[in-house]
Amino acid sequence: MGRTLQNTMINLGLQNACDEAVYQLGLDMEELEEIEEDAGLGNGGLGRLAACFLDSMATLGLAAYGYGIRYEYGIFNQKIRDGWQVEEADDWLRHGNPWEKARPEYMLPVHFYGRVEHSATGAKWVDTQVVLALPYDTPVPGYMNNTVNTMRLWSARAPNDFNLRDFNVGDYIQAVLDRNLAENISRVLYPNDNFFEGKELRLKQEYFVVAATLQDIIRRFKASKFGSTDSVRTVFDSFPDQVAIQLNDTHPAMAIPELMRIFVDIEKLPWNKAWDITKRTFAYTNHTVLPEALERWPVDLVEKLLPRHLQIIYEINQRHLDHIASLFPNDVDRLRRMSLIEEGGTKRINMAHLCIVGSHAVNGVAKIHSEIVKTQVFEDFAALEPEKFQNKTNGITPRRWLLLCNPGLAELIAEKIGEDYVRDLSQLTKLHEFVDDDLFIREVAKVKQENKVKFALYLEKEYKVKINPSSMFDVHVKRIHEYKRQLMNCLHIITMYNRIRRDPAKVFVPRTVIIGGKAAPGYHMAKMIIKLINAVAHVVNNDPVVGSKLKVIFLENYRVSLAEKVIPATDLSEQISTAGTEASGTGNMKFMLNGALTIGTMDGANVEMAEEAGEENLFIFGMRVEDVTELDREGYNAQKYYDQLPELKRAVDQIKSGFFSPKDPDLFKDVVDMLFHHDRFKVFADYEAYVKCQEKVSELYLNSKAWTKMVIRNIAAAGKFSSDRTIKEYARDIWHVEPSDLKIPPPNEPRDAVEDKTPNGTAA
Ligand SMILES: *Cc1c(COP(=O)(O)O)cnc(C)c1O
Repeated sequence: MGRTLQNTMINLGLQNACDEAVYQLGLDMEELEEIEEDAGLGNGGLGRLAACFLDSMATLGLAAYGYGIRYEYGIFNQKIRDGWQVEEADDWLRHGNPWEKARPEYMLPVHFYGRVEHSATGAKWVDTQVVLALPYDTPVPGYMNNTVNTMRLWSARAPNDFNLRDFNVGDYIQAVLDRNLAENISRVLYPNDNFFEGKELRLKQEYFVVAATLQDIIRRFKASKFGSTDSVRTVFDSFPDQVAIQLNDTHPAMAIPELMRIFVDIEKLPWNKAWDITKRTFAYTNHTVLPEALERWPVDLVEKLLPRHLQIIYEINQRHLDHIASLFPNDVDRLRRMSLIEEGGTKRINMAHLCIVGSHAVNGVAKIHSEIVKTQVFEDFAALEPEKFQNKTNGITPRRWLLLCNPGLAELIAEKIGEDYVRDLSQLTKLHEFVDDDLFIREVAKVKQENKVKFALYLEKEYKVKINPSSMFDVHVKRIHEYKRQLMNCLHIITMYNRIRRDPAKVFVPRTVIIGGKAAPGYHMAKMIIKLINAVAHVVNNDPVVGSKLKVIFLENYRVSLAEKVIPATDLSEQISTAGTEASGTGNMKFMLNGALTIGTMDGANVEMAEEAGEENLFIFGMRVEDVTELDREGYNAQKYYDQLPELKRAVDQIKSGFFSPKDPDLFKDVVDMLFHHDRFKVFADYEAYVKCQEKVSELYLNSKAWTKMVIRNIAAAGKFSSDRTIKEYARDIWHVEPSDLKIPPPNEPRDAVEDKTPNGTAA
C-alpha cells in the first residue's frame, strides 16, 4: 500500500486545505508525510496491483473488500553495506498505525491439524488446534466520490485457553509463552517475489487468510436479505449472484476446498450443488508462468495441516479426471498432465490446476501473457473450456501514480485538457493536439527538469551522493531477478565505461544509471547481482577519466514511497525482461504516465504500450517470444555471442578477471559461469541489440525537443493503463457488477436543525 496520508487527502480533496492549515501551524506537510512508514505488506508488482485495484474499486463505487494478512513485519528494509544487501526487520507498527481500527467483535476461529471422522451424517474435522483471526480495518477512500471501502487484514491471536486444556496442563508459564506459536502465523511476510517456497508456516498463512475471509463473507451473506432460511438451513442458491471472489494468484487457492468444506460438511449441501456454487463464485488471476513460481504443495504437508481439505481436493480431482476421461478416452497422458495431483517423487498438489478447475473465469494480466497461459502453460485446460480464459491487462491508479507523485505534471495536463482525465484517463489522448505546441513542450521538459533536481537534492541529503541533473536519468527499479535482467543493464554500463576510457575525447551523452530493488534473502544470484552493480559503480564513479559523463547509483531500499520520488524524475525506463517472462509489469506503466521513455523488450504490457503509443515512440529491441522459442529449439549457446562480440567479451572478461573486485578476483565467478552455462534468460543473446538501441536513445536525448515530443506522445497514449479501465473490465466480464460514477452526498453536510448533535455542537 505504501503511505496513506497524502493519498487520503488527495482522494478526499483536502490536500490544499491541509497544506495551508499545517503551514499556519508553522509546519511543513511534506516533512510530516515523510515520517509515515510504508505499509510494505507485499513483495512487488502483485501486491501493488491489489493496492491500485482497491483505489479504483472505491473510485468506481464498487462494494468491494480487500482481504489480506496484517503482517507484523512487512518486506524487510534493505541496507547496502560494502556493496552487499543486508536485511533489517521492518517493524512498521512500532509507533502505532493511525489508519487501522481493530474490530474484535468480528474475530473468528481458524482450525489446523486434527483428523477427520466419517459417519452417516458426513465428515467431521475434529481434534483441531484453533487460532483466532482478529480483523483490522483500514479505510479505502474513492477519489472525490464520498465513498469509502474497507481493507480488512487478519492478525493471528492465540485463544486464552491455548495449550492450557490438554497435554500442557500444569505448565502455565510455558503455555503462555507458547501463545507465540499461534501468533507467529501473521508475524512476517515471506520475502520471495516470483518464487515458491513450500514452508509449513507459509501454508498456514495462506489457509489462515482464506478461512477467516470466507467466514466473514458467509456471515455477511447470511445477514443480508439474500441469505434466506427454509425453516432450518440457509439457501445458498443466490450466493454467486451476491458474492464474487477474485483469487490474486494461487496464494489463496485453499479457498476453493474450504468453501466446499463449509457447504458440504457444515451447511450439508449436496456435493454437486456445492461445487456449482463454488465454481460460480471464484475467478482466478494468473500472474506468472515461471515454473519456479508455481505453487505445488506437498500432499504430506497438506494432509498433516488440513486433512479434510486434502480429502476434498482428492474428490474434486476424481470427478475432474472422470470428466476428462469421458471426453478423451484412453488418453492417459492427458489425465496425468491435467491432474490436480502430481505423482513421481514427492506427491504434490498443483494449485494453479485447482484454481482453474474451481473457477468460472481464468485471466492473465497482459495480452501476450494471457496468450501464453491459454496456448502453452494451461493448453489442455483451455482445450477443455476455452471460454473460461480471458485477458485483463493490468493498470495503475492515476491518483497515486500521477496526482500524488507528480503534481507539476498533473497540473500542466489539467491546464490543457481539464481535470476530468483523473477519473477517465483515456482523455489523455487530447494531449496529442499539443505535441507541436512549443510552449507546452518547454513546460513538460521544465516539469521533468524540476523533478530531476528535486530527486538529486534528495539523494544528496539522504545518501551524500551527488548526481548531475542535466545528465540522462536511466532508471531500472524493480525486484532483483535473473529474468528481469539487471545483469544486461550492468553489461551495458561496463560497455559505456570502456568506450569512454578508449576514447575520452569522443562526444558522450552524460548518463546517470540508477538501479534499485530488493533481492529475496535466500536468492544467492540476486544478491551477487547487487554486489556486482555496486562494484561496477565503485570503479566507474571513481575514475577521473569518466568524470561526470557516467555515474552509477544503486538505490537502496526501493519501495512504494521511493518509487513515488524516482519515477517522476526518470528520463529512461528500463523494461528489459526476456520476452515471455514478465507477465505484465506495472512499473513500465508508471514511468510512461510520468513522462519517461521506455527501452524495452516485446514482453508483458510493453507490447500494449507500443501498440498504444506506436512502436516508433518506444525503444523496442531484441528477441520476440517466437525468437526465444526458436533459440530454445536450436539450443542457446552463450559462448557464440561472447566469441562474436568484442565489447561483450571485454566486459565479461573484466568481471571474470576481478577488474571490479581486485581484492577478491574470483568474487563473480559464479555469475559469469551462470551467464555462459545456465542462463535461462539469455542475456548474451539480446546484448548487441540492447547496446545498439541504447545508442539510439543517447542520440535522441541530444535533441531535447524531439525527446520531449516523444514523451508527450507517450503520456497521451497512457490512458489505457489506468487501473480504472482494468477494474471496469473485471466488473463487466467476471464479476457482473455495474460501476457507478455517482457522487453520494457527503456525510457531514448540515442536516435538519439540532438532531444528531453532540453536546459540544459538532455533528455526531
Ligand atoms: C510498481 C512497483 C513494482 C512493480 O514493478 P515492475 O517493474 O512491474 O516489476 C515493484 N515494487 C514497487 C515498490 C512498485 O511500486
